[in-house]
Amino acid sequence: MYSLNWQTIHTVFLDMDGTLLDLNYDNQFWRHHLPKRYAQQSGLSIEAAKAILLSRYEDMLGRLEWYSVDYWSTQLDMDVGVLIAELTHLIAVRPYVNEFLYALRQHNKRVVLLTNAHQKSISLKMQHTQIVHHFDCIVSAHDLGLPKEAAEFWHKLQAVEPFKAAHTLFIDDSLSVLRSAAGYGIAHLLGIYQPDSQAPPTESDEFRTIHSFREIMPPLPR
Ligand SMILES: [Mg+2]
Repeated sequence: MYSLNWQTIHTVFLDMDGTLLDLNYDNQFWRHHLPKRYAQQSGLSIEAAKAILLSRYEDMLGRLEWYSVDYWSTQLDMDVGVLIAELTHLIAVRPYVNEFLYALRQHNKRVVLLTNAHQKSISLKMQHTQIVHHFDCIVSAHDLGLPKEAAEFWHKLQAVEPFKAAHTLFIDDSLSVLRSAAGYGIAHLLGIYQPDSQAPPTESDEFRTIHSFREIMPPLPR
């Protein structure tokens, strides 16, 4: 059990994919489903389609375009916005997320969804989970024109969602994003031990990680 000093935390920034939601959906979509559809469209074998797509993803890693449904629609000449809806049965909220978000509201914390995901992906995920009403604000990196990995992202974020770094908790499953937030000075940082329920855990001791939101549940107000 990891105890956070909730008294000092006023704002909670939460990543979406791999943090609040199981990363299994995203991994299945990008690594298997999209290559399969691409193979069908192009006449390539699934193996060939997969090899092409995985190397193209690699080139875009950490860049905003990697997260853009529209970018990939143009690049692959496919309607990725439609294709992402074909796997909605895999969209799943991670354990104790609803309880955690509810508790944050009870404690009057400012709760912000802070994601690199594209608007089309956010709206699909909000449609298939019941978490949207928990947030005071939803910020997509696409609105700011920079991914969370960029140092300048946090400065731009201040303009749309002012926050005090010393009083902010940020939870994200990406190590490079956590490093970027640490660089800006966000005081409370947590990672996710196993972002994808169907894949091995992330092996790193650079940031403290949680298995479940139950571990950091703020105490119920008396
Ligand atoms: Mg994530």
